[in-house]
Amino acid sequence: MLATQLFEVGDIRTVDVAKPAPQSGDIVVKVEAAGICGTDRHLYKGEFPSVAGTTLGHEFSGIVVDAGTSEIPVGTRVTCDPNTWCGACDQCQRGRVNLCINNVATGIGRDGGFAEYCAFPAHKAHVLPDNLNPLHGAFCEPLACTIHGMDIGAASSGERVLVIGGGVIGLMAVQLAKLAGSEVMLLTRNKKKQQLGQSLGAHLVAGTEHEVKQQWADGADLVVECAGVDATVAMAPQLTRTGGRVVVLGVLPDGVKVSIEPFDLLFREIQVHFSFLNPFTHARASQMIADGVVDVAPLITRTISLKEAPDAISNPAPDGEVRAIVVPES
Ligand code: NAP
Repeated sequence: MLATQLFEVGDIRTVDVAKPAPQSGDIVVKVEAAGICGTDRHLYKGEFPSVAGTTLGHEFSGIVVDAGTSEIPVGTRVTCDPNTWCGACDQCQRGRVNLCINNVATGIGRDGGFAEYCAFPAHKAHVLPDNLNPLHGAFCEPLACTIHGMDIGAASSGERVLVIGGGVIGLMAVQLAKLAGSEVMLLTRNKKKQQLGQSLGAHLVAGTEHEVKQQWADGADLVVECAGVDATVAMAPQLTRTGGRVVVLGVLPDGVKVSIEPFDLLFREIQVHFSFLNPFTHARASQMIADGVVDVAPLITRTISLKEAPDAISNPAPDGEVRAIVVPES
C-alpha cells in the first residue's frame, strides 16, 4: 500500500510499504480522510519531535476492516484519537494524561493516517455515523485539541474573545467561543480567512494588532493564540483586558523565546495558560462533528492524493488555504 513517511527532517516521501500488521489490541482502518495539520509542517521541519521513518497523519478517520479483539463491527466508520497514554506514569496517575511521558501518538510516534490503511489501539477509536461526510471525520482531532484550549480559557456569555490565527484551530475556536455566547473577534492577516471567520460566527475581524486595538481599546477578556508564531504569542497578553486570560494553543519551535513584560502582567493580573493536546475531549469532539454543531465543510480547501501529500506538507499552505485533506483512495 502507499504511505507518506517522514524519513528524517526535510525528507518526506510517499512510498510502497506493507499493509500494517495489527498488534495486540489494535484495529485496522481503511483511511478515508486525513488532514494536513500545522503540526505536520512543524514535524517536517524538525520543530516538533517525531520518530524517523514514521507514516505521518494524526487527524484521520476511516472504516474498520479488521476489528482485532475489539467489539467494533467491521464496516464501522471511526475517528482515531492519536494520543495513547500509558496510564501508569506520574502524570497519568494525576489525571494529566496529555502530559504522559510515555505517550505514543499515532502519526507521530507510530504509523498514522497518511496511508491506505492504519492500525491503532481499538480503545482510541470513536464511532462516527454511517451517513457522515467521510471528509468530516478528519476534523475530530483538531476540534478535540481546540475544545481543551477553550475549556482552559472558559469563555463566558457576553465576554470578548479574541482568536489569533485563521487556520483550522482558530476557526474552530471562533465557533466554540460563539457557541459559548461570547463576542468574538478573529485576527488573521488573510482577507479570505477573515471572511470565512465572519461566515463562521466572528462578529469582528482584524488583520493587525493595531486593528484589534482600534475596535477593542481595552482588550479581550480571553485571547486564544492559534497562530503558533512568536509575534502573536508576544502580542496576546497585550491584547488582553486587565484581569483577563490568554490561552496559547499554537506550537512554536523548540528553543524559541518570546519576551513578556512581567510588571504589566502582574499589575493587570493577566493569566497566561498553555493548552496541549486533547485530554478526554475526543469523544466530545466526535459528537459535535457527528451532530454538525461545528461547521467543518468550509474549512476544506482541497482534497489531494497520497502522492501529492509530500509536496503539500513540505511547503507552506497556499494563500488562503485552511485545510488540505489527503484522500488515499483518490
Ligand atoms: P495553520 O493552518 O498553519 O494556521 C495558523 C494561522 O495563523 C494561519 O492561518 C495564519 O493565517 C495565522 N498567522 C500566522 N502568522 C500570523 C500573524 N503574524 N498574525 C496573525 N495570524 C497569523 O495551523 P492550524 O492547524 O490551525 O494550527 C494552529 C497552531 O496550533 C499550529 O502551530 C499548530 O501546530 C498548533 N496546534 C496545537 C495543538 C495543541 O494541542 N496545542 C493542536 C493542534 C495544532 P494568516 O496567514 O491568514 O495570518
